[in-house]
Amino acid sequence: MDRGNIDQNPAYVEIAPDFYCDETGEPFVKCIECETDLIDSQEQYFIEKAKRRYPNTQETLTIFEFAICLSCTTKLNQSLSQESLSKITEFQTDLLRNSNNSNSARSATSSGSKNVLNTCLFSGNKISMCDEYQLVGAFRGDKMILHDLPFAISGEVVEAMSEILSEQTKEEFDGFVSKHFTGPPELQELWGKPKLILI
Ligand SMILES: [Zn+2]
Repeated sequence: MDRGNIDQNPAYVEIAPDFYCDETGEPFVKCIECETDLIDSQEQYFIEKAKRRYPNTQETLTIFEFAICLSCTTKLNQSLSQESLSKITEFQTDLLRNSNNSNSARSATSSGSKNVLNTCLFSGNKISMCDEYQLVGAFRGDKMILHDLPFAISGEVVEAMSEILSEQTKEEFDGFVSKHFTGPPELQELWGKPKLILI
């Protein structure tokens, strides 16, 4: 998505622990594609995490997670078909227009990120009730940028969104994920599912 144009006066806050790297328990330090140092470079970057909840608990398992710098994000988006990109944008805009939740979720963004991550931006569903969900945020250095990010999106919306993508775009996403992740063995059955890169 085109998320390069961050507002001239974004708010910078501490990185929410939801966006810490699972492996280290600390903030991400490297871009997954070019391995640039995200903290020193001060380049804008994004983090995406796909999570699954153990049935009937609040315990979660990360399906995949990564940080990616703005330059690599731009390259990734350029490799996707224009048609798919505009379909996703259209789909998201429609959902947001129909979602009573979006206004309240967005106003929560300006006061803090915590509440925003509790609710699916597009469906208004509580993330604590979702078996699967993804989190996306924008960052610079050791700070999180509050703008139209971060947001949480339920697995249901991810699936609906991936259904409108072209085969070529699905392959690009699958290629990106399989290039970087093998995935925990206990989540094997999820790897056949469509994946959506939301940055
Ligand atoms: Zn990079």
